[in-house]
Amino acid sequence: MSAHIIDGKQIAADFREDLKSTFQNSTTQPGLAVILVGDDPASHVYVRNKIKACEAVGIHSFEARLPENATQDEVAAQIQAFNNDENVHGILLQLPVPKHLDSDALIQMIAPEKDVDGLTLTNIGALVAGLPGLAPCTPKGSLHLIKSVKKDLSGLNAVVLGRSLLFGKPMAQLLLAENCTVTTAHSRTKNIKDVCKQADILIAAVGRPQMVKADWIKPGAIVIDVGINRLDNGKLCGDVDFDAAKDVAGAITPVPGGVGPMTIAYLLSNTIDAAKNAPSPTHT
Ligand code: NAP
Repeated sequence: MSAHIIDGKQIAADFREDLKSTFQNSTTQPGLAVILVGDDPASHVYVRNKIKACEAVGIHSFEARLPENATQDEVAAQIQAFNNDENVHGILLQLPVPKHLDSDALIQMIAPEKDVDGLTLTNIGALVAGLPGLAPCTPKGSLHLIKSVKKDLSGLNAVVLGRSLLFGKPMAQLLLAENCTVTTAHSRTKNIKDVCKQADILIAAVGRPQMVKADWIKPGAIVIDVGINRLDNGKLCGDVDFDAAKDVAGAITPVPGGVGPMTIAYLLSNTIDAAKNAPSPTHT
């Protein structure tokens, strides 16, 4: 039996339509500011896509480009300027930044209420404590895809492969909040295949092409492939051996066209949430 292919592109498009309507009658136009430091061509493409996505739903975008040799103080000053700008509700520092910069310190300078990537300690703490805050976009998008297949996740075994702060750890917290029994696996996990085989929901975010084989998957499981890897032939692939896995899984995301479009959709969603929670603009 072949798995249901979870169409992230379509689900993200539907979600973006829903987002548009949430602020149509609002007097505040949500604003997202993107800070791009340096000349990394992939980052330029990502930023362009994010700005295009903002425009398509009616979010105002602000862009600050700093040169490759920008200093820590210069980037910090730009973050501070956006922190103080009441038309900016979300701030995103495009990663990676050039190596001479301390990205962790820069991220922590973003005002938590504008931290649409959910990476400040305040927002990480809020996620763990189950308090309101902004959670990272890719885990939120992945949860949305899981729930497009199954609404009630209570009591299900979920295995998250990968424990990064950007994805694995927040994903595990979101699944815990859904009452899943969560296992986080990583490079030191023993018998990883057997661990994965217990999963009703298996989420792979390791950055290793096609590492998850069909015989790692419990028949009927929901498989979410977060990995983005480029093969020698130039093609993109995920962390799951998709062609074989789709004959075992109940539902599975493709790469590309799975999690990727959801990440941008949740960046817009977090910006809209941040705008809703922002104090009313002051007029002087
Ligand atoms: P990361 O920071 O490099 O973390 C990778 C994780 O995978 C680490 O926890 C690592 O374990 C674990 N790992 C590595 N090799 C392993 C192995 N052989 N067995 C088990 N675990 C292993 O990466 P990330 O930022 O979380 O991203 C992961 C992947 O998702 C990448 O391909 C990235 O491009 C993709 N991604 C996609 C999106 C999207 O929008 N679609 C967004 C974010 C990330 P240790 O901690 O033990 O080293």
